[in-house]
Amino acid sequence: MNQNKKPRALYIHVPFCRSICFYCDFCHRFYQEKEADEWLLALRREISHYRLNTDLKTVYIGGGTPTALSGRQLDSLLSLLDPYTKNVLEYTIEINPETLDEQKAAILTAHGINRASIGLQTADGELLQKIGRHHTTADVTETVRLLKEHGIDNISLDLMYSLPDQTMESLRESIRFALSLQPKHLSLYSLTVEENTVFGRKGVTPLDEETEADMYEEICRVLPEAGYRQYEISNFALPGYESRHNLVYWHYEDFYGLSAGASGMEDHCRYDKPAGLSEYLQDPLRRDLIPLPQEDEMFETVMMGLRLKDGISLSVFQERFGMTFEEAFSGTAEKLLGEGKLLIKDGYLKCADAYYHLLNSVLSDLLPV
Ligand code: SF4
Repeated sequence: MNQNKKPRALYIHVPFCRSICFYCDFCHRFYQEKEADEWLLALRREISHYRLNTDLKTVYIGGGTPTALSGRQLDSLLSLLDPYTKNVLEYTIEINPETLDEQKAAILTAHGINRASIGLQTADGELLQKIGRHHTTADVTETVRLLKEHGIDNISLDLMYSLPDQTMESLRESIRFALSLQPKHLSLYSLTVEENTVFGRKGVTPLDEETEADMYEEICRVLPEAGYRQYEISNFALPGYESRHNLVYWHYEDFYGLSAGASGMEDHCRYDKPAGLSEYLQDPLRRDLIPLPQEDEMFETVMMGLRLKDGISLSVFQERFGMTFEEAFSGTAEKLLGEGKLLIKDGYLKCADAYYHLLNSVLSDLLPV
Protein backbone atom coordinates (compact mmCIF):
# COMPACT_ATOMS: atom_id res chain seq x y z
CA MET A 1 0.00 0.00 0.00
CA ASN A 2 1.15 3.54 -0.78
CA GLN A 3 2.77 5.05 2.35
CA ASN A 4 0.34 8.01 2.22
CA LYS A 5 -2.65 5.68 2.33
CA LYS A 6 -1.34 3.59 5.21
CA PRO A 7 -2.84 4.18 8.67
CA ARG A 8 -1.20 6.90 10.71
CA ALA A 9 -2.34 5.59 14.04
CA LEU A 10 -1.22 2.48 15.87
CA TYR A 11 -2.69 0.66 18.85
CA ILE A 12 -0.71 -2.05 20.64
CA HIS A 13 -2.31 -4.22 23.28
CA VAL A 14 -0.08 -5.45 26.10
CA PRO A 15 -2.00 -8.43 27.43
CA PHE A 16 -0.50 -8.68 30.92
CA CYS A 17 -1.62 -7.42 34.31
CA ARG A 18 -0.14 -7.76 37.79
CA SER A 19 -3.62 -8.33 39.24
CA ILE A 20 -7.10 -8.71 37.80
CA CYS A 21 -9.78 -6.09 38.49
CA PHE A 22 -13.23 -7.47 39.24
CA TYR A 23 -15.02 -5.57 36.46
CA CYS A 24 -12.50 -6.16 33.69
CA ASP A 25 -13.13 -8.15 30.54
CA PHE A 26 -10.16 -6.90 28.53
CA CYS A 27 -7.69 -9.41 27.17
CA HIS A 28 -5.23 -9.92 30.00
CA ARG A 29 -3.15 -12.56 31.80
CA PHE A 30 -1.25 -12.56 35.01
CA TYR A 31 2.20 -11.27 34.16
CA GLN A 32 4.91 -13.92 33.85
CA GLU A 33 8.34 -12.91 32.72
CA LYS A 34 8.93 -15.85 30.38
CA GLU A 35 5.57 -15.48 28.66
CA ALA A 36 6.10 -11.74 28.26
CA ASP A 37 9.45 -12.47 26.57
CA GLU A 38 7.69 -14.85 24.16
CA TRP A 39 5.07 -12.20 23.49
CA LEU A 40 7.78 -9.65 22.64
CA LEU A 41 9.27 -12.06 20.09
CA ALA A 42 5.85 -12.58 18.50
CA LEU A 43 5.22 -8.85 18.41
CA ARG A 44 8.61 -8.28 16.75
CA ARG A 45 7.53 -10.70 14.03
CA GLU A 46 4.19 -9.00 13.60
CA ILE A 47 5.64 -5.50 13.40
CA SER A 48 8.23 -6.40 10.76
CA HIS A 49 5.72 -8.42 8.70
CA TYR A 50 3.25 -5.56 8.29
CA ARG A 51 5.79 -2.91 7.26
CA LEU A 52 4.03 -0.24 9.25
CA ASN A 53 3.85 3.36 8.14
CA THR A 54 7.03 5.06 9.33
CA ASP A 55 5.15 8.35 9.50
CA LEU A 56 2.77 7.50 12.34
CA LYS A 57 1.08 10.45 14.02
CA THR A 58 -0.34 8.73 17.07
CA VAL A 59 0.65 5.61 18.97
CA TYR A 60 -1.31 4.22 21.89
CA ILE A 61 0.05 1.41 24.04
CA GLY A 62 -2.80 0.01 26.05
CA GLY A 63 -3.81 -3.18 27.74
CA GLY A 64 -3.77 -4.97 30.02
CA THR A 65 -1.10 -3.03 31.81
CA PRO A 66 1.89 -2.00 29.66
CA THR A 67 3.84 -1.05 32.79
CA ALA A 68 3.33 -4.59 34.15
CA LEU A 69 6.31 -5.45 31.92
CA SER A 70 9.73 -5.34 33.55
CA GLY A 71 11.97 -2.35 32.80
CA ARG A 72 14.00 -4.47 30.38
CA GLN A 73 10.88 -5.63 28.56
CA LEU A 74 9.38 -2.16 28.42
CA ASP A 75 12.61 -0.92 26.87
CA SER A 76 12.51 -3.76 24.30
CA LEU A 77 8.90 -2.99 23.42
CA LEU A 78 9.56 0.71 22.89
CA SER A 79 12.78 -0.05 20.96
CA LEU A 80 10.71 -2.14 18.52
CA LEU A 81 8.60 0.94 17.89
CA ASP A 82 11.42 3.51 17.66
CA PRO A 83 11.71 3.31 13.84
CA TYR A 84 8.03 4.29 13.52
CA THR A 85 7.73 7.02 16.11
CA LYS A 86 10.11 9.68 14.78
CA ASN A 87 7.29 12.00 13.69
CA VAL A 88 4.70 10.94 16.19
CA LEU A 89 2.67 13.79 17.70
CA GLU A 90 1.00 11.91 20.51
CA TYR A 91 2.58 8.82 22.06
CA THR A 92 0.47 7.46 24.88
CA ILE A 93 0.96 4.65 27.33
CA GLU A 94 -1.55 3.34 29.85
CA ILE A 95 -0.27 3.07 33.40
CA ASN A 96 -1.56 1.31 36.45
CA PRO A 97 -0.45 3.38 39.44
CA GLU A 98 1.34 0.66 41.37
CA THR A 99 3.48 -0.45 38.42
CA LEU A 100 5.57 2.62 37.60
CA ASP A 101 8.96 3.27 39.13
CA GLU A 102 11.85 5.64 38.49
CA GLN A 103 13.55 3.27 36.03
CA LYS A 104 10.41 2.73 33.94
CA ALA A 105 9.57 6.45 33.92
CA ALA A 106 13.07 7.18 32.55
CA ILE A 107 12.58 4.50 29.86
CA LEU A 108 9.29 6.09 28.74
CA THR A 109 10.91 9.49 28.33
CA ALA A 110 13.96 8.07 26.54
CA HIS A 111 11.67 6.63 23.85
CA GLY A 112 9.59 9.76 23.38
CA ILE A 113 6.39 8.83 25.21
CA ASN A 114 4.65 12.17 25.74
CA ARG A 115 1.27 11.21 27.20
CA ALA A 116 0.16 8.89 29.98
CA SER A 117 -3.26 7.56 30.80
CA ILE A 118 -3.54 6.50 34.42
CA GLY A 119 -6.26 4.27 35.86
CA LEU A 120 -7.31 6.11 39.02
CA GLN A 121 -10.95 4.84 38.93
CA THR A 122 -11.91 6.21 42.35
CA ALA A 123 -10.23 7.98 45.25
CA ASP A 124 -12.32 5.99 47.73
CA GLY A 125 -10.00 3.40 49.33
CA GLU A 126 -12.82 1.02 50.27
CA LEU A 127 -14.31 1.16 46.80
CA LEU A 128 -10.92 0.50 45.25
CA GLN A 129 -10.73 -2.73 47.22
CA LYS A 130 -14.29 -3.66 46.29
CA ILE A 131 -13.48 -3.42 42.59
CA GLY A 132 -10.24 -5.37 42.94
CA ARG A 133 -7.76 -2.54 42.53
CA HIS A 134 -4.57 -2.67 44.56
CA HIS A 135 -3.35 0.91 44.39
CA THR A 136 -3.93 3.79 46.79
CA THR A 137 -4.40 7.48 46.09
CA ALA A 138 -0.82 7.95 47.33
CA ASP A 139 0.33 5.64 44.50
CA VAL A 140 -1.51 7.80 41.99
CA THR A 141 0.01 10.98 43.38
CA GLU A 142 3.47 9.40 43.23
CA THR A 143 2.92 8.16 39.66
CA VAL A 144 1.92 11.64 38.52
CA ARG A 145 4.94 13.12 40.29
CA LEU A 146 7.31 10.64 38.67
CA LEU A 147 5.88 11.27 35.22
CA LYS A 148 6.08 15.04 35.58
CA GLU A 149 9.61 14.79 36.92
CA HIS A 150 10.48 12.93 33.73
CA GLY A 151 8.87 15.54 31.52
CA ILE A 152 5.54 13.79 30.83
CA ASP A 153 2.88 16.24 31.93
CA ASN A 154 0.19 15.42 29.37
CA ILE A 155 -1.64 13.16 31.78
CA SER A 156 -5.10 11.69 31.51
CA LEU A 157 -6.90 10.12 34.46
CA ASP A 158 -9.61 7.45 34.17
CA LEU A 159 -12.43 7.53 36.70
CA MET A 160 -15.38 5.20 37.11
CA TYR A 161 -18.90 5.86 38.33
CA SER A 162 -21.98 3.79 39.11
CA LEU A 163 -19.74 1.46 41.13
CA PRO A 164 -21.42 -0.80 43.72
CA ASP A 165 -22.21 1.24 46.86
CA GLN A 166 -20.68 4.39 45.39
CA THR A 167 -22.36 7.54 46.66
CA MET A 168 -22.58 10.91 44.97
CA GLU A 169 -20.31 12.34 47.65
CA SER A 170 -17.73 9.63 46.98
CA LEU A 171 -17.82 10.49 43.28
CA ARG A 172 -17.46 14.20 44.03
CA GLU A 173 -14.48 13.47 46.29
CA SER A 174 -12.85 11.38 43.54
CA ILE A 175 -13.30 14.22 41.07
CA ARG A 176 -11.85 16.69 43.59
CA PHE A 177 -8.85 14.42 44.10
CA ALA A 178 -8.38 13.96 40.34
CA LEU A 179 -8.51 17.72 39.75
CA SER A 180 -5.94 18.32 42.50
CA LEU A 181 -3.45 16.40 40.33
CA GLN A 182 -4.04 18.88 37.47
CA PRO A 183 -4.48 16.36 34.65
CA LYS A 184 -4.86 17.62 31.10
CA HIS A 185 -7.58 15.10 30.31
CA LEU A 186 -10.18 13.02 32.14
CA SER A 187 -12.15 9.98 30.99
CA LEU A 188 -15.18 8.90 33.02
CA TYR A 189 -16.80 5.54 32.46
CA SER A 190 -19.82 4.00 34.13
CA LEU A 191 -19.50 0.43 35.33
CA THR A 192 -20.84 -2.18 32.95
CA VAL A 193 -20.88 -5.73 34.20
CA GLU A 194 -19.93 -8.40 31.66
CA GLU A 195 -20.65 -12.07 32.33
CA ASN A 196 -17.04 -13.19 32.04
CA THR A 197 -15.78 -10.97 34.86
CA VAL A 198 -15.49 -11.53 38.60
CA PHE A 199 -18.42 -9.15 39.08
CA GLY A 200 -20.42 -10.98 36.40
CA ARG A 201 -19.86 -14.33 38.09
CA LYS A 202 -20.80 -12.89 41.49
CA GLY A 203 -23.95 -11.24 40.16
CA VAL A 204 -22.80 -7.72 41.10
CA THR A 205 -24.82 -4.96 39.43
CA PRO A 206 -24.14 -1.28 38.75
CA LEU A 207 -26.25 1.36 40.51
CA ASP A 208 -29.80 1.98 39.29
CA GLU A 209 -30.24 3.96 36.07
CA GLU A 210 -31.50 7.07 37.79
CA THR A 211 -28.49 7.35 40.12
CA GLU A 212 -26.16 6.64 37.23
CA ALA A 213 -27.81 9.41 35.18
CA ASP A 214 -27.52 11.80 38.16
CA MET A 215 -23.82 10.99 38.46
CA TYR A 216 -23.27 11.59 34.76
CA GLU A 217 -25.09 14.92 35.04
CA GLU A 218 -22.89 15.89 37.99
CA ILE A 219 -19.73 15.02 36.03
CA CYS A 220 -20.93 17.07 33.06
CA ARG A 221 -21.59 20.01 35.39
CA VAL A 222 -18.45 19.93 37.54
CA LEU A 223 -15.71 19.32 34.98
CA PRO A 224 -16.60 22.19 32.62
CA GLU A 225 -16.71 24.48 35.66
CA ALA A 226 -13.10 23.42 36.30
CA GLY A 227 -12.13 24.31 32.71
CA TYR A 228 -12.42 20.87 31.07
CA ARG A 229 -14.45 20.84 27.88
CA GLN A 230 -16.57 17.80 27.24
CA TYR A 231 -15.54 16.91 23.71
CA GLU A 232 -16.88 13.36 23.70
CA ILE A 233 -19.55 11.53 25.67
CA SER A 234 -17.08 10.20 28.25
CA ASN A 235 -14.09 12.48 27.73
CA PHE A 236 -13.11 15.93 28.96
CA ALA A 237 -9.96 17.92 28.20
CA LEU A 238 -8.29 21.24 28.78
CA PRO A 239 -8.19 23.17 25.48
CA GLY A 240 -5.72 21.53 23.06
CA TYR A 241 -5.41 18.30 25.05
CA GLU A 242 -8.12 16.20 23.40
CA SER A 243 -6.82 12.69 22.71
CA ARG A 244 -5.57 12.75 19.12
CA HIS A 245 -5.40 8.98 19.01
CA ASN A 246 -8.95 8.44 20.17
CA LEU A 247 -10.11 11.09 17.70
CA VAL A 248 -8.90 8.71 14.97
CA TYR A 249 -11.49 6.17 16.18
CA TRP A 250 -14.25 8.76 16.52
CA HIS A 251 -13.45 10.13 13.06
CA TYR A 252 -13.63 6.55 11.83
CA GLU A 253 -10.18 6.61 10.27
CA ASP A 254 -7.93 3.62 9.67
CA PHE A 255 -5.57 2.43 12.38
CA TYR A 256 -3.27 -0.50 12.96
CA GLY A 257 -4.06 -2.86 15.81
CA LEU A 258 -1.27 -5.18 16.92
CA SER A 259 -0.99 -8.02 19.44
CA ALA A 260 -3.43 -10.36 21.15
CA GLY A 261 -6.79 -8.78 21.89
CA ALA A 262 -6.33 -5.82 19.53
CA SER A 263 -8.53 -4.78 16.61
CA GLY A 264 -7.59 -2.62 13.67
CA MET A 265 -9.15 -1.09 10.58
CA GLU A 266 -7.52 -0.82 7.20
CA ASP A 267 -8.77 -0.36 3.67
CA HIS A 268 -12.51 -0.98 4.26
CA CYS A 269 -11.89 -3.96 6.54
CA ARG A 270 -11.94 -4.33 10.27
CA TYR A 271 -9.81 -7.08 11.74
CA ASP A 272 -9.50 -8.78 15.10
CA LYS A 273 -6.30 -10.25 16.38
CA PRO A 274 -6.59 -13.54 18.32
CA ALA A 275 -8.20 -12.82 21.67
CA GLY A 276 -6.12 -15.35 23.59
CA LEU A 277 -2.40 -15.07 24.22
CA SER A 278 -1.63 -18.71 23.30
CA GLU A 279 -3.37 -18.39 19.90
CA TYR A 280 -1.46 -15.19 19.29
CA LEU A 281 1.89 -16.76 20.21
CA GLN A 282 1.15 -19.64 17.82
CA ASP A 283 0.37 -17.31 14.94
CA PRO A 284 1.11 -13.62 15.55
CA LEU A 285 0.22 -12.79 11.94
CA ARG A 286 -3.35 -14.04 12.19
CA ARG A 287 -6.01 -11.42 11.56
CA ASP A 288 -9.70 -12.26 11.34
CA LEU A 289 -10.92 -9.92 8.61
CA ILE A 290 -14.40 -8.43 8.54
CA PRO A 291 -15.05 -6.59 5.24
CA LEU A 292 -17.06 -3.42 5.75
CA PRO A 293 -19.77 -2.76 3.16
CA GLN A 294 -20.34 0.94 2.47
CA GLU A 295 -23.68 0.86 4.29
CA ASP A 296 -21.97 -0.32 7.49
CA GLU A 297 -19.19 2.22 7.11
CA MET A 298 -21.70 5.04 6.75
CA PHE A 299 -23.58 3.98 9.87
CA GLU A 300 -20.42 3.48 11.90
CA THR A 301 -19.05 6.85 10.77
CA VAL A 302 -22.21 8.47 12.13
CA MET A 303 -22.26 6.29 15.25
CA MET A 304 -18.69 7.18 16.18
CA GLY A 305 -18.84 10.81 15.02
CA LEU A 306 -21.96 11.69 16.98
CA ARG A 307 -20.15 10.74 20.18
CA LEU A 308 -18.19 13.95 19.64
CA LYS A 309 -19.68 17.21 20.87
CA ASP A 310 -18.57 18.81 17.59
CA GLY A 311 -20.24 16.03 15.60
CA ILE A 312 -19.41 15.05 12.03
CA SER A 313 -18.23 17.21 9.17
CA LEU A 314 -20.90 16.81 6.49
CA SER A 315 -18.48 17.72 3.70
CA VAL A 316 -16.06 15.01 4.87
CA PHE A 317 -18.96 12.53 4.95
CA GLN A 318 -20.00 13.46 1.39
CA GLU A 319 -16.45 13.33 0.07
CA ARG A 320 -15.94 9.93 1.63
CA PHE A 321 -19.15 8.25 0.51
CA GLY A 322 -20.13 10.20 -2.61
CA MET A 323 -23.52 11.15 -1.16
CA THR A 324 -24.91 13.47 1.47
CA PHE A 325 -25.93 12.37 4.97
CA GLU A 326 -29.59 12.97 4.03
CA GLU A 327 -29.22 10.80 0.91
CA ALA A 328 -27.46 8.05 2.87
CA PHE A 329 -30.15 7.95 5.56
CA SER A 330 -33.12 9.14 3.56
CA GLY A 331 -36.30 9.20 5.61
CA THR A 332 -34.75 8.74 9.06
CA ALA A 333 -32.37 11.71 8.65
CA GLU A 334 -35.30 14.10 8.01
CA LYS A 335 -37.24 12.56 10.91
CA LEU A 336 -34.41 12.95 13.45
CA LEU A 337 -33.60 16.46 12.23
CA GLY A 338 -37.30 17.35 12.33
CA GLU A 339 -37.67 16.04 15.88
CA GLY A 340 -34.68 18.13 16.94
CA LYS A 341 -32.69 15.07 18.09
CA LEU A 342 -30.02 15.82 15.50
CA LEU A 343 -29.09 19.25 14.24
CA ILE A 344 -26.86 20.75 11.58
CA LYS A 345 -24.73 23.74 12.46
CA ASP A 346 -21.83 25.29 10.55
CA GLY A 347 -21.56 22.24 8.29
CA TYR A 348 -21.50 19.73 11.17
CA LEU A 349 -24.12 17.16 12.11
CA LYS A 350 -24.50 16.91 15.88
CA CYS A 351 -26.63 15.28 18.48
CA ALA A 352 -28.72 17.93 20.26
CA ASP A 353 -27.56 18.54 23.84
CA ALA A 354 -30.87 17.38 25.29
CA TYR A 355 -30.45 13.98 23.59
CA TYR A 356 -26.68 13.57 23.96
CA HIS A 357 -27.00 11.18 26.91
CA LEU A 358 -29.59 9.20 24.91
CA LEU A 359 -27.36 8.88 21.87
CA ASN A 360 -27.75 5.11 21.60
CA SER A 361 -31.50 5.37 21.20
CA VAL A 362 -31.07 8.13 18.59
CA LEU A 363 -28.63 5.93 16.69
CA SER A 364 -30.93 2.93 16.74
CA ASP A 365 -33.20 4.81 14.30
CA LEU A 366 -30.31 5.05 11.84
CA LEU A 367 -29.31 1.40 11.97
CA PRO A 368 -29.29 -0.28 8.56
CA VAL A 369 -32.25 -2.70 8.26
S1 SF4 B 1 -8.77 -2.95 34.32
FE1 SF4 B 1 -6.73 -2.77 33.47
S2 SF4 B 1 -5.38 -3.36 35.15
FE2 SF4 B 1 -7.41 -4.09 35.71
S3 SF4 B 1 -7.42 -6.21 34.96
FE3 SF4 B 1 -8.29 -4.91 33.37
S4 SF4 B 1 -6.61 -4.45 32.01
FE4 SF4 B 1 -5.74 -5.21 33.93
